[in-house]
Amino acid sequence: MKLDLYTLYVGHVTTFVLMTTILLLIGLRYRQEQALRIWGVAGVLACAGIALIALRPYLPLWLGVGLANCLLFFSLMLTWVGGVALDHARLPWRPGLLLAGAVSGVFLLLPFGPEAFAWRILLFSAAYLLFHALLWRSLRRSPHQARLGYRLGRLIVLLLMLTYSVRLLYSSAVSSGWLANSALFAYLDYQAMWLEYAKLLCFIFICFERLEIRLYQQAMLDSLTGLANRRAFHEQAEQRLAANPDAPVALLVMDLDWFKRVNDSHGHLAGDEVLVHFATLLDRHFGHFDAVYGRNGGEEFSVLLSGSAVPHAPALAETLRHTLAAEPIATSDGNTLQQTVSTGLVVAPRGHTPLRELFRQADLQLYAAKEQGRNRVCVGAL
Ligand code: GH3
Ligand code: MG
Ligand code: MG
Repeated sequence: MKLDLYTLYVGHVTTFVLMTTILLLIGLRYRQEQALRIWGVAGVLACAGIALIALRPYLPLWLGVGLANCLLFFSLMLTWVGGVALDHARLPWRPGLLLAGAVSGVFLLLPFGPEAFAWRILLFSAAYLLFHALLWRSLRRSPHQARLGYRLGRLIVLLLMLTYSVRLLYSSAVSSGWLANSALFAYLDYQAMWLEYAKLLCFIFICFERLEIRLYQQAMLDSLTGLANRRAFHEQAEQRLAANPDAPVALLVMDLDWFKRVNDSHGHLAGDEVLVHFATLLDRHFGHFDAVYGRNGGEEFSVLLSGSAVPHAPALAETLRHTLAAEPIATSDGNTLQQTVSTGLVVAPRGHTPLRELFRQADLQLYAAKEQGRNRVCVGAL
């Protein structure tokens, strides 16, 4: 037994409804992923549109052709808006609604009978290409655009655009009499259908990838300063030591001086601002070196230097200390604060030193710096 096109089409609508339901359920479960809910609504409109098209033989033309395609235009627009919602706060509702409204208006002006079939195909393919080009661009502009899900998403969108370009060229060739009608049209629709499934799966993939990024950030980044937290610092530092066990390293442990007084006299918020200020100084001073750095907790930070920067570690620590002491920190309540830092530094020129031992020695130096009056760097060697 061979299945006819109509049965296949009904199968397509059913599968699409099931996949859209799953997309919507995941979107409702993961509240932070607005994109999934927008794509879910896009899927519902698409399901309604293609169901009306499937029922066309039993419906008036304004419903089975006119309204059905308008629903698809708005669904395409939502697919684009969903792509933007992944990583951008401002959603293009106004241009999206205007575009979808304009295309629907033009579509409704065309006759619904077979005489305008080629024109309808042309208009639909053009709208499809436009909205998918916009979706491709939003995936390309994302800060996570190099991730696998985003790459796959862009590839599928490109393949869909290619399919619809061939469909568009083909329909113009048929309508201008260059080609006799053939089965190619059905094949193109069939291919687009599989790609549409792949697109929905990819949307889910992208959102799980984003969930993974968010969980990683929550587990590894300090929420106040954005620096590596204690766990991430230790993990990265251990990796660095294991990757090159013979190389010299330097560990700096830094503790802000009399920091409790900042909180007591200017408030906890001002204290937070000082911590953020110090984190930006760390970025500025060590960001371009072969360095791992992070916030240990409270007002304590550490830096592990390796490679050619190790001999310069005392000078770098001294520069950082001096910069912090010299720059008054402006807080949001209009005050300016002075802050200093004490640093314990240990240099291990021969490598092979466990991180625990490096910390023990650096902590001794930090203790010495505090004892000697603070705002200084004390250096030890292993
Ligand atoms: P010392 O020079 O000996 O290091 O003195 P200190 O006051 O800096 O040290 P102490 O350990 O007495 O105080 C540290 C303070 O850091 C106490 C705590 O309230 C504050 N602190 C820890 N984490 C945070 C934070 O995330 N935000 C703010 N604002 N304060 C914090
Ligand atoms: Mg302190
Ligand atoms: Mg401390």
